[in-house]
Amino acid sequence: MKPASFAYFSPKSLDEALANIAEVGDDGGKILAGGQSLVPAMNFRMAQPTALVDLNEIQELFYIKPTDTGGLVIGAMTRDRTVELDSLVKKRAPIIPECLYWMAHPTIRNRGTFGGALAHSDPAGQLPVVAVVMNFNFHIQSKDADRWSGADDFFVSVYTTCLEADEILTGIEVPAMTKMSGYSYKQVSRQTGESALLGVATLLSLDDAGIVKDCRIAYMGVAEKPVMAMEAMAMLNGNQPSDELITEAIEATVKGELDPGADIHASVEYRLHLARTLGAASVKEAVIRAAKQE
Ligand SMILES: Cc1cc2nc3c(=O)[nH]c(=O)nc-3n(C[C@H](O)[C@H](O)[C@H](O)COP(=O)(O)OP(=O)(O)OC[C@H]3O[C@@H](n4cnc5c(N)ncnc54)[C@H](O)[C@@H]3O)c2cc1C
Repeated sequence: MKPASFAYFSPKSLDEALANIAEVGDDGGKILAGGQSLVPAMNFRMAQPTALVDLNEIQELFYIKPTDTGGLVIGAMTRDRTVELDSLVKKRAPIIPECLYWMAHPTIRNRGTFGGALAHSDPAGQLPVVAVVMNFNFHIQSKDADRWSGADDFFVSVYTTCLEADEILTGIEVPAMTKMSGYSYKQVSRQTGESALLGVATLLSLDDAGIVKDCRIAYMGVAEKPVMAMEAMAMLNGNQPSDELITEAIEATVKGELDPGADIHASVEYRLHLARTLGAASVKEAVIRAAKQE
């Protein structure tokens, strides 16, 4: 199929793009980033934007920079594959390349953008759950305003974020991973490059006595947006991460906090089984990695 007709803008600067989206956003205009989700949706007429504001010529949105506090800032148009292969990202936020490996195929990651995957807010997306577990900060700009949003507020629902029709996600701040940080991203999909049935991201530290600190765990594929495993985090923080405790903590979250749906790919029971096994495996891997660091 071919898309419905639309107006097309190809701004060369961010200011120009902000002016374009201010003009067309409220009338059904949309931002075009890598086009890997939006263009197929337009071809199937599931999306019929009246106008596209194409960000691909705006060089100032393509970058990866270190922050003074040990984190990173990533321009919204930086390609997923660029982020995945970047040595600074591997050093400062290794959970990001680990999750990007699972996203679609390398050809799609060559074109898809870091900001696009976050703005798309796919409940089966790898980056939103990592954004929540790492607490990314989102730089959002419009013609007349400039604001930041934390990950908890950014993701609202399926394909819905806190972005207004005239706003552009321009950059993403990735906080520093603390000293002795262990990380893990795990998912199950039916085959490589397919959407995940369920995924889990873990970030934690160990103190000198091997006690868990700053544990954050989040699931995707169980609700309309990533879900933090609050019960498991509370049980693990401040304690020795024995296998028994990890199993108990994940079970508390699975029983008390997760309410996945069924679809043609997986039953509720299977998703809960994945939440148990992947959740425990993810925490154990994060503990092992934290213990190996200085
Ligand atoms: C075969 C296939 C498999 C895939 N598998 C996965 C997968 O496993 N996991 C996964 O997460 N994704 C998957 N995707 C989606 C792919 O990763 C997309 O590229 C990504 O989700 C959207 O990024 P994009 O840059 O292509 O955005 P686009 O498709 O251009 O845009 C997506 C949406 O976000 C909005 N948007 C984009 N950038 C901005 C911005 N800077 N500011 C405001 N709004 C913006 C657009 O208006 C649009 O609504 C798959 C795609 C295909 C075709």
